[in-house]
Amino acid sequence: LVRLRSRLSRSQNTLGKGLLALLSRDHLDEDTWEEIEDTLLTADIGVQPTQELVERLRTRVKVLGTRTPDELRALLREELLTLIDPEMDRELRTARHAEADPSRPAVVMVVGVNGTGKTTTCGRIARVIVAEGRTVVLGAADTFRAAAADQLQTWGDRVGARTVRGPEGGDPASVAFDAVKEGIADGSDTVLVDTAGRLHTKTGLMDELGKVKRVVEKHGPVDEVLLVLDATTGQNGMVQARVFAEVVDITGIVLTKLDGTAKGGIVVAVQRELGVPVKLVGLGEGADDLAPFEPGAFVDALIG
Ligand code: GDP
Repeated sequence: LVRLRSRLSRSQNTLGKGLLALLSRDHLDEDTWEEIEDTLLTADIGVQPTQELVERLRTRVKVLGTRTPDELRALLREELLTLIDPEMDRELRTARHAEADPSRPAVVMVVGVNGTGKTTTCGRIARVIVAEGRTVVLGAADTFRAAAADQLQTWGDRVGARTVRGPEGGDPASVAFDAVKEGIADGSDTVLVDTAGRLHTKTGLMDELGKVKRVVEKHGPVDEVLLVLDATTGQNGMVQARVFAEVVDITGIVLTKLDGTAKGGIVVAVQRELGVPVKLVGLGEGADDLAPFEPGAFVDALIG
């Protein structure tokens, strides 16, 4: 929590501070409410959630009458938390199917546009699994960029996970299939499949990701499809989210580079858009800078 707060504080809590300052004004006239709305929109919360929040704040502030700073803070915290939906199940499914099928590892596919942080995310998740005394196989299903497979392998070597890769330009689905096969053969807990994210031909991407998933499913269901989004890309990230959601059923969102933006509201926007929870957030470039997303801690960091 301390780390989250310090990482976000530089950029993010302008949102919470700005809102609190506006709400503390003696007279909340229409101009002020418009400023509040602008502040929320600037933070990428999205149009509809912004309108809902402003509506609720208006009602509650009216009921409250005179407002102490503490009351305002509590009210804002509660309303932002509601917007983020603390009830969503954010658990990352990386545990082996011990009861149903003891031989089968959990299979996690990581998808997203190149540069958003997919490979880094795979490496960091692998690191946590290994640190917990479990075993993981990495599948380098981005066969189009040799550098991507090299980068994943570097992570694998560093954390002590095996990396399965194919020939450059080879079939991504076949690499993914082999990675899961190896995971089953050596009784691994988890297989993480890193995929390619070239968005220039949407049909190509659709065909490829769909095929990777179908082929992996020959071994059994895929447990997680994590969509990695770069929080600094704002509305562009939302467009990407829609495209990927059309291609595969996303089960969780990884929001990277939150350390580099004041637009933390994208958490709200993307959850609304896809109806799936943000499960992990990236807070820096370091190996341990990927954290489970905790709505309460996040809102506290926003408000500062
Ligand atoms: P990929 O092409 O989607 O696999 O993206 P990479 O995993 O190669 O990451 C692209 C760049 O983003 C790398 O330089 C990472 O170090 C950086 N990166 C990833 N996650 C974060 C994050 O949470 N914060 C910051 N500041 N940089 C990140």
